[in-house]
Amino acid sequence: MKTERRYWVNAPFGIPDFFDTEDFEVDEEERKKLKHIDAELERAGFFFGETEWVYKTWDKEEAIEMANIAREIWKEWSEDQADTVSITAQPICPKCGELGRFSDEYCSKCGTKLLPKAELNIDTGEVIPVK
Ligand SMILES: [Zn+2]
Repeated sequence: MKTERRYWVNAPFGIPDFFDTEDFEVDEEERKKLKHIDAELERAGFFFGETEWVYKTWDKEEAIEMANIAREIWKEWSEDQADTVSITAQPICPKCGELGRFSDEYCSKCGTKLLPKAELNIDTGEVIPVK
């Protein structure tokens, strides 16, 4: 039975270029700072996700380390944003190891019930299933 999980470290976007339109109303100073945060996260190894920066790893310690790096990067600018950094464990099949989508309940390969989506607590290292 497989119990390893693949973790997604999630950190909010600053202002990635494709968001940076006329109706994004921040002053020049703010814009600079937010773009700097994006650059720092990218340099740390994060990738553009659909709605936020994402770093994927099978290593729990590494996930926690990356989450703390993202928190530090954000903290300088906004404690609130730093607090939204999270780690999510992707659904996975305990029988064959196939990864599921976050909305999946059963394995698409063998039909076994997946280990559900879970949150990894950054401070305690505890993995807590979420709905
Ligand atoms: Zn399976």
